[in-house]
Amino acid sequence: MAQLDSKVPPGPLADKWRRHKADSKLVNPANKRKYEVIVVGAGLAGASAAATLAELGYQVKNFVFHDSPRRAHSIAAQGGINAAKNYQNDGDSVHRLFYDTIKGGDYRSREANVHRLAEVSVNIIDQCAAQGVPFAREYGGLLANRSFGGAQVSRTFYARGQTGQQLLLGAYSALSRMVGTGGVQLFTQSEMLDLVVVGGQAKGIIVRDLVTGEVSRHAADAVILATGGYGNVFNLSTYARGSNATAIWRAYKRGACFANPCFTQIHPTCIPVTGDYQSKLTLMSESLRNDGRIWVPKKKEDRLKKPADIPEADRDYYLERMYPSFGNLAPRDIASRAAKRVCDEGRGVGESGLGVYLDFSDAIKRLGEAGVRERYGNLFDIYHEITNESAYQTPMRIYPAVHYTMGGLWVDYNLMSNVPGLFVLGEANFSDHGANRLGASALMQGLADGYFVIPYTVGDYLATQKPGSRPSTDAPEFKQAEENVRGLVARLLAVKGKEPVSHFHKRLGKIMWELCGMARTKAGLEKALKEIPALREEFWQNVNVPGDGGTLNQSLESAGRVADFLELGELLCLDALEREESCGGHFREEYQYPDGECKRDDEKFAHVAAWEFQGAGKKPLRNTEPLNYEAVKMSVRNYK
Ligand SMILES: Cc1cc2nc3c(=O)[nH]c(=O)nc-3n(C[C@H](O)[C@H](O)[C@H](O)COP(=O)(O)OP(=O)(O)OC[C@H]3O[C@@H](n4cnc5c(N)ncnc54)[C@H](O)[C@@H]3O)c2cc1C
Repeated sequence: MAQLDSKVPPGPLADKWRRHKADSKLVNPANKRKYEVIVVGAGLAGASAAATLAELGYQVKNFVFHDSPRRAHSIAAQGGINAAKNYQNDGDSVHRLFYDTIKGGDYRSREANVHRLAEVSVNIIDQCAAQGVPFAREYGGLLANRSFGGAQVSRTFYARGQTGQQLLLGAYSALSRMVGTGGVQLFTQSEMLDLVVVGGQAKGIIVRDLVTGEVSRHAADAVILATGGYGNVFNLSTYARGSNATAIWRAYKRGACFANPCFTQIHPTCIPVTGDYQSKLTLMSESLRNDGRIWVPKKKEDRLKKPADIPEADRDYYLERMYPSFGNLAPRDIASRAAKRVCDEGRGVGESGLGVYLDFSDAIKRLGEAGVRERYGNLFDIYHEITNESAYQTPMRIYPAVHYTMGGLWVDYNLMSNVPGLFVLGEANFSDHGANRLGASALMQGLADGYFVIPYTVGDYLATQKPGSRPSTDAPEFKQAEENVRGLVARLLAVKGKEPVSHFHKRLGKIMWELCGMARTKAGLEKALKEIPALREEFWQNVNVPGDGGTLNQSLESAGRVADFLELGELLCLDALEREESCGGHFREEYQYPDGECKRDDEKFAHVAAWEFQGAGKKPLRNTEPLNYEAVKMSVRNYK
């Protein structure tokens, strides 16, 4: 059974991080050069960590499967990044950001981590502004803010609709500087396919060069995974197509616990699915809910009418009606379920009936078209590119889609997994968002982890490791892990079945969306738990991976990732089945209040479920870490 010690420091909540930093062990500058740290991933979390650790003097090896760090999925983030700066003088504070995040996560995250996140949020903005990130500014020069869901203050910093891109360029320039100095060795198009554990500690990885197929061993004193989220287990999602779970899944199979896999986020404002051959979905940023109003017709029979032909009196602005305090800025889980509900009632718009309107006509009256263009122009352009409709003239049609995963590898307060020496950052860990993430909080968390947390906590760990004690890559554990990778690649190529990888990914996605998506039931999850192993069996009998393993082969890459999704999907459904309550993005139909809101069971489920691999074909072990709330009182979330 895994040891889940959260290592939350003692003392008052607001002092914990300061005291912990002061109590952490240090590595002297001459010794820092002797340690090698592997960072897998160069999205916001990985690039910020790799650059910062190299600045500190550690030797860093940074691996990414992309051809450039600039292609990490972080580049897609549109809306913004939260920070408790209170520039608007509207009542924000570190405590309020902390409280909103705990409440937004439906009381399923660790208080101490979330408080630290709120504390360092203010430093992130300074760091990025100093790097030259072009945040939007007010007329007088101060950084501008807008509002995001689940908050009644404006604390979201942004760079038009390209915040992730601008932040990533900042982190990438810091990383490039360290590549230039020799502090970071960057390996692009290099996919980590196994974790090497020696003497119970993470000491290296096995990597496959995606261009040549060469498999190599890399040893280190510590390994950091910053490999992003696993939402593509649903196939259709707002993620970049390449985002995958392989790094964290293979680490799970080497002993790292996987926490709360069923906590997935469905974002309310995405362009609806249009057909079977679609490979991805597109987000319309939550920032649009600052000025856009969401509605459906009051009467079913109006749903196919042109929106302009439906008079004001016949429109149901259902979020404003149901949640008057937060209105269109209700948190994502709540707004998504409300959209599902009105569509289930037969009032959804568009041919499929799976759509609601996001209407800017009031905003255009108030701000003028130029004012709306100034704020959201590039998002309107994206919408036009995809739908051939102008949202200046007619409301956008939107529907919820898979967008983010709150679950991930379990980590303690130091962001270290239960495998000593293995740290996990950004979306890849389960840390701060509980059962539902608030908008603009992922970028904040990824950069908090990389720029401000890991530089302290990795040092605290390395100080316990003798310089020069990292194992040689000739150790038997490296040999075994390399054989494991080679064996898997050979097995995928040898099936020579009839169906392409995408066929299985699509079918898995359908099972996941229908049976473990916005609403889940015991019967549905039990069905999924039968269907997924059967599909996996079929995959291994009938998948067709053309080409070979010695050249660039994208079918082979995606086959390995889908093979992992076919295992992870099962764990996700098992976790959803065993969590017999509704909270945040995890909605079990059996557990709801008469008005359709989530019914938590704090007595039985106020804990993190951390699953431990027990071997192929065996049921994983469900460990728990209790969640104790000292500063915040658990209550039923209320956005009304
Ligand atoms: C469309 C969209 C818009 C969003 N907008 C916002 C927003 O406005 N605000 C906000 O806060 N959040 C937003 N998010 C969420 C946010 O973008 C992500 O949660 C965040 O960027 C994840 O960063 P990351 O560094 O953890 O991972 P990623 O950016 O996904 O980076 C993962 C890295 O790991 C590498 N990698 C993965 N696996 C391997 C492997 N096996 N071997 C080698 N390398 C590997 C990849 O190459 C990549 O470099 C948005 C998400 C989407 C989908």
